[in-house]
Amino acid sequence: MKPYFNLSTGNKKLVSDSDVKFLIWNLPAVTTCPYATEACKKACYARTAETVYPGCLPSRERNLNESKKSDFVEKMAETIHAYANRKNYRNAKEIRFRIHESGDFYNRTYATAWLEIAKRCADIENLTFLAYTKSFVYFDGVALPSNFQLLASIWNDTKQTQLDIVIRNGWRIYTAIPEQYIETSKEYGFTECTCENCNTCKTDCYHAGNDMIAVRLHGTEGKHVAATITEDTVMELLRRHGIVK
Ligand code: SF4
Repeated sequence: MKPYFNLSTGNKKLVSDSDVKFLIWNLPAVTTCPYATEACKKACYARTAETVYPGCLPSRERNLNESKKSDFVEKMAETIHAYANRKNYRNAKEIRFRIHESGDFYNRTYATAWLEIAKRCADIENLTFLAYTKSFVYFDGVALPSNFQLLASIWNDTKQTQLDIVIRNGWRIYTAIPEQYIETSKEYGFTECTCENCNTCKTDCYHAGNDMIAVRLHGTEGKHVAATITEDTVMELLRRHGIVK
C-alpha cells in the first residue's frame, strides 16, 4: 500500500524516536484559520516558515486543494494506514498524528472529514489524532472518536463566546505563555511537565491539572505575544473563568 499524501514525520519540537512517531498534516497558515485571534496571527510561527522556506507554502496549498476533493477522506485514511504499516511505525508504542501544526479546520465539512478519518483509522491501535484548534464551533456538541483528542487553543484575546464553547464541552486547553510570564503562571497552578506522563507534546510545556497545557514561548514568538498582553494575560483570562485557580 502506497501513501497518497506525503506526511511530515516530525519537526524541530516533535521529534520521532523508536517509541513515539509523529505524523503531521499542514495547511496554509492564517488563511485557513477562520477563528484565529489577532494575538495568534501576530505570533504565528507557521506563517513565518512560509516566508522563510520556499517549498513550504506551495506544499500546504497542495494539501488544501486535496482536502477539498470528494475522495479526501478515503485517500487520507489509506495514507495513514500505509504509514502505520511501516515496520518502525508498527513497532512504536505510539503514533501521534498532529492535524495542523499550521492552519486550522477551515469549515464544518473539513472538520467532519477528519472525524470520519479518525473512525476509519480506529483499527490502528497505537495511533492518536491530536487536533489543536480554535475552530471550536465545528465540534460543539459533537461526540469525538476515542482516538481523537481535541485541544482548545486559547489566547489572551480569545472571545468569551469562544471560551464558553470550550467550557461547555469540557475540552482540554492548550495555551502559550511567553517566557517572562512563566514564573507568574506558577501562581496560577502551572507546573513544569516532566513528560513522563505527558501524552500530548514533546516540548517545553507546563500543566495545570489535567485540563490545561501551556507551551513556553521563546524568543521572537514570545516577544510578539508579550507585545499584545497588557493586564489581560492568558492566565488572568483563564482564572476569571474558573479554569485555573
Ligand atoms: S491558528 Fe495557528 S496557524 Fe492559524 S494563525 Fe493562529 S497560530 Fe497561525
